[in-house]
Amino acid sequence: MAKCPHCDTIISLDSLHKEVRGALKKEVMYSCPSCDKVLGFAFFFGGMLTGRP
Ligand SMILES: [Zn+2]
Repeated sequence: MAKCPHCDTIISLDSLHKEVRGALKKEVMYSCPSCDKVLGFAFFFGGMLTGRP
């Protein structure tokens, strides 16, 4: 569980909004489901998640 720094909403990983950007790098952008502000980025290669917000 994480807390949004923008609106103080408690967010679970399941409720995070994920948006995939970029064809090659598969950049995943996480945003708050409540205020829609960007919380972080993760990158994964070949389906393996290498980073977390
Ligand atoms: Zn928020």
